[in-house]
Amino acid sequence: MTVRDILQIGHPVLRQVAEDVDVADIKSDEIRTLIGDLVDTMRAANGAGIAANQIAVPLRVTVMEVTDNPRYPYKPRLPLTVVINPTIEFLTPAQVDDSDGPETVMINEGCLSVPLRGDVERQVNIRVRYYDGEGVLHDEVKRGLTAGTWQHECDHLDGVLFVDRVKDPASLSTWDEFNRNGRDAFIERITAFVEQIGS
Ligand code: ZN
Repeated sequence: MTVRDILQIGHPVLRQVAEDVDVADIKSDEIRTLIGDLVDTMRAANGAGIAANQIAVPLRVTVMEVTDNPRYPYKPRLPLTVVINPTIEFLTPAQVDDSDGPETVMINEGCLSVPLRGDVERQVNIRVRYYDGEGVLHDEVKRGLTAGTWQHECDHLDGVLFVDRVKDPASLSTWDEFNRNGRDAFIERITAFVEQIGS
């Protein structure tokens, strides 16, 4: 497989709504190669996820993985997940038997296609339906920062970048400035959140 160039903000393909994969094609050579390239490209760039349109393929395919990630050391582990034709439904805390939990969380996000970080409010509880790389249909609940990663990647498939969802532009920073000025406070807050939610 191949490490591909990652499109940067301003490239029109990042703004296209990606098209569904024909389920009968999921095991085709074309889609298998695409999935392999996404995994290799994500890992080479230390991303937590990448969507196919970030490598100029406007199909609804994304992969996610968090191991010991130097870009996002506070993110809970997330095994390699191949996601095709996903849909997301927002859930209330009560729908996942945790009615005292928060409905949303402010996450300082980064993106392989944007050279900045910024604060985005994400839903804490979501239900996702998707096909995996073997063509198996999944219906699962995701929570916390993992749910945030899902929302970020699925946004890509709709041509949406995290900067579109940043309500306070003053939260935008370069990675260097984030590391100097915002990182410690964010990690302290988000680590407490991850311990509360468990993911
Ligand atoms: Zn991204």
